[in-house]
Amino acid sequence: MESEEGATVVCAHAHQEEAAAAAEAAAAMKEAGGGGKRRRKQQRKQGGGGGGRKKYALVSYHELPEYMKENEFILNYYRSEWPILNAVLSLFSWHNETINIWTHLLGFMLFFGLTLVHLGQYFPQVADLIGHLSWPISKVAENVSSNIGDVLSGAAMFIQTNPTLVSYGAAVTSQTTRWPFFVFLAGAMFCLLSSSACHLLSCHSHSLNLFLIRLDYTGIAVMIVVSFFPPIYYIFQCEPHWQVVYLSAITAAGVGTVYALMSPRLSAARYRAHRALLFVGMGLSGVVPAVHAAAVNWHEPARNVTLAYEGAMAVSYLVGTAFYLTRVPERWRPGAFDLAGHSHQIFHALVIAGALAHYGAAIVFLKARDEMGCPAS
Ligand SMILES: [Zn+2]
Repeated sequence: MESEEGATVVCAHAHQEEAAAAAEAAAAMKEAGGGGKRRRKQQRKQGGGGGGRKKYALVSYHELPEYMKENEFILNYYRSEWPILNAVLSLFSWHNETINIWTHLLGFMLFFGLTLVHLGQYFPQVADLIGHLSWPISKVAENVSSNIGDVLSGAAMFIQTNPTLVSYGAAVTSQTTRWPFFVFLAGAMFCLLSSSACHLLSCHSHSLNLFLIRLDYTGIAVMIVVSFFPPIYYIFQCEPHWQVVYLSAITAAGVGTVYALMSPRLSAARYRAHRALLFVGMGLSGVVPAVHAAAVNWHEPARNVTLAYEGAMAVSYLVGTAFYLTRVPERWRPGAFDLAGHSHQIFHALVIAGALAHYGAAIVFLKARDEMGCPAS
């Protein structure tokens, strides 16, 4: 049922891969002519309006250094080689990355809020903290949590009233362990925050651009690996050797992928497809435990609820990937969607939706295990 894990790969920012590829080509030119500094000096500036800091103008696609040219259908409103402080402050101004930054920053805040809400269930100090915070994020998180909680209580009722589970109910002695759930939340926060940072700051310089792309790759790999933790852990809770096999395998695959992507050789343009394949392969490897789990839990009532959530995750990620790959709608009207409505923004929103659906599934797995425990052996 977690074959849809494969869809997690859509977190991949292949446009950044393209940027990395372009960067490779640009690197030689820049190193030959010291073009980077010159280009930065050539940067068009406007008066600072009385402040000490220069105000940097937004530029068009054709004015970008080669390594930043990644989507020729977005024509204007680029930040190009801005000082780091200006780049940070551009969080609060309009350019063609504003919505890309904020979608994943808000996604990060949402998952942070959810984490606090769940931690509050186990640590009274955190609950007190949430109680004192009136900021909207924790409210949003609570609402999302309670909406999903409504669905869950329905699922739990279904599980409890199902006669095949009554015998399992007798074996329940305590709450199941929570750490695989928190591993997922932490990994999702890391992925969303590194993506947001990448969109915010990669306009600063070639070297920071390359670093942030690698951080983003790492975030994607982490997101894929941690997405395996709740389903695998809770489905195979009564067969720990399968937990060890699958979680070790996906973790090793993640470490290997990150290691491979750090190598300059694999960053070369001609390996772009290979890099994408690494993420796709990681995600698709979820098919193996999914088929196994379907066989083991074929009569499990929570299966339908988790399938619905994981199906929603798969659809979100796959539709997001389709937008991302086709670069629709900006391809149809280049320049019309520079600030709002371009494919990457839609892709980001769908990544959040997919991650939330997976969160919903994780909660169902968790609650189902709380209800059932393992049959006494
Ligand atoms: Zn992105």
